[in-house]
Amino acid sequence: MQTSNFRKKLIEVRQAKGLTQDDVAEQCNISSRTIQRIESGEVQPRSSTIKIISEALGFDFFETSNTGSDVENLNQSSKMKGHTPLWYIKDLFNLKTNTMRKISILTTLGITIGIALFLFRLDTNAQINSKQENVSLAENESFITSVEKKGKIQVVFSNELTFDDLISIKRRMDSKGITINFKKVEFDEFNHLSAIEYEVDCNDGYAGSYSVSNLDSSNENKKIGFYRDYSENASSPFGLGPLKRIIVIDAGHGGVDPGNSNGAINEKEIVLNMANKIKELFKRPDIEIILTRDSDKFMALNDRVNFINNLNPEYVISLHVNLGKNESNKGFDVLFSDKNKFNEKSKRLAAEITKSLQKVNASNGMNNAGLFILKNVNSPAVLIELGYLSNPEDKAMLTSAEGQNQIAKRIVEVLK
Ligand SMILES: [Zn+2]
Repeated sequence: MQTSNFRKKLIEVRQAKGLTQDDVAEQCNISSRTIQRIESGEVQPRSSTIKIISEALGFDFFETSNTGSDVENLNQSSKMKGHTPLWYIKDLFNLKTNTMRKISILTTLGITIGIALFLFRLDTNAQINSKQENVSLAENESFITSVEKKGKIQVVFSNELTFDDLISIKRRMDSKGITINFKKVEFDEFNHLSAIEYEVDCNDGYAGSYSVSNLDSSNENKKIGFYRDYSENASSPFGLGPLKRIIVIDAGHGGVDPGNSNGAINEKEIVLNMANKIKELFKRPDIEIILTRDSDKFMALNDRVNFINNLNPEYVISLHVNLGKNESNKGFDVLFSDKNKFNEKSKRLAAEITKSLQKVNASNGMNNAGLFILKNVNSPAVLIELGYLSNPEDKAMLTSAEGQNQIAKRIVEVLK
């Protein structure tokens, strides 16, 4: 958009709302001097600043920039003919001149107003209906969330986020009954979040606010945000500010889905044991290991992805066990997806895990695989096929406490 248009429109909207430059500055958390300089044309605001002002004034400056100049042109052309718009309206009802043309204009106008009124009523009805729908949705949702509210939700405000990301986080949390207010946001030259002051209200008694400046790569390891843990036995149900980093270990299959089997031995049991071992061996106060399942229960892939994305983890490691056509198929596979949002980080993690696991078993290399979980989680993710149940050596390792310990230790080594 033209900055000069924005400047004019800002003055116009500000004055129409009866606000001073100081009022706008306060609402946008920008200095009064900056507003002055924008309005005087001294500085050209960045698009992120225009967005913030749009939000604060409840007016979309991106949309209206063109319309404004059209109105100006129209006014100019009518002035040039020496008639005011009011003159045209009065003249329209004067049927002594151009009678037929005016009657048809008036008829068209009448029909248009009629249709508009009709549509307006339809729209009002639709709004009433959608309100009713919202009510029933909300009722449904309170049912859904009472089921869903067993898990943990964690939001991280990192330097990787843009203005649009913040808006989508706010909407997503709204749908979960958590209200976020951004009191202040600043962005760097790449339009990435550099400072934030936020208020969180879980609307169940848990609320708080926090503020951080210089949210840059220098404190990449510091996670700023909040969490709400709905688990019944949660030791800390709500937290805000610096957060623990989370690593998710996903034990594949479970419940009615045994995964691969060899005789009485099922994949679902081996991977659950491995996940528990990894959690047990990994001890770091600043990182929390969360398992997608810690018992023999079925969990649909969709639910796993939702569960993981609610947590915004650092890494996701999904554990599986292979079954070959031949007994000779042996060793582990590490899979990643180039459709993952953090494709590069996923690959790096895959390489480190491959290197570490090679100390205890043969590697079949790391491969790109478009698996649902790898593609759909919003975190770097790998899937490890820990070995072949169909191979006697691998089977012995995967089912013995000693073998499981060796594998778990090699994975923990990478996460440390
Ligand atoms: Zn599997």
